[in-house]
Amino acid sequence: MRIYQCHFCSSPVYPLHGITFVRNDAKEFRFCRSKCHKAFKQRRNPRKLRWTKAFRKAAGKELTVDSTLTFASRRNIPIRYNRDLVAKTLEGMSRIEEIRQKRERAFYKNRMRGNKERQLAADKKLVEDNPELLKIREVELRRKAERQQAKENAIQEDDEEEEVEEIEQDEDMIDEDEEMMSESEGESEEESEKIKQNVLLKNKTKRKLNK
Ligand SMILES: [Zn+2]
Repeated sequence: MRIYQCHFCSSPVYPLHGITFVRNDAKEFRFCRSKCHKAFKQRRNPRKLRWTKAFRKAAGKELTVDSTLTFASRRNIPIRYNRDLVAKTLEGMSRIEEIRQKRERAFYKNRMRGNKERQLAADKKLVEDNPELLKIREVELRRKAERQQAKENAIQEDDEEEEVEEIEQDEDMIDEDEEMMSESEGESEEESEKIKQNVLLKNKTKRKLNK
């Protein structure tokens, strides 16, 4: 069993995974997934796509120059089969992998060194350029205090409201009676207005007749 590398993104291609394209000159191209295969068919340059290993290596984001990386490269020197050599190689593989991982970790640490200080300096500069940002905290605290106050008031009002509601219920009963009364009064008022208008009209006609 052999774990191949994706031709496009360099991720491992396990058996029964991905797709293999064989060009008419018999060169094999293995792809880990359709995403990589499609990108290859579209003739995309893996160095220009940020998610590929090729880009990361070209951009200096990953370890490139190291003796541990040269072991896997192909050599065109035929070696005669030697049982001891094979055993030694198998032993060495795990050890080399260990060293490689250690160096990669060190490379990453070195690359990220000073990020905290840089971020802190950037933040300081931001605050210096925009002093109003510091007041946001004060505004937040004031709003919080206001909310707290409103909550306390609401609790107090709730207690009061319960008492008020009981009184209001009694008042509602009275209101309904009053409304009935006022409706009948309203009708009588309209009638009286009509009568008044009639009287005025009559007066007008009388004046006209007198003239
Ligand atoms: Zn891939």
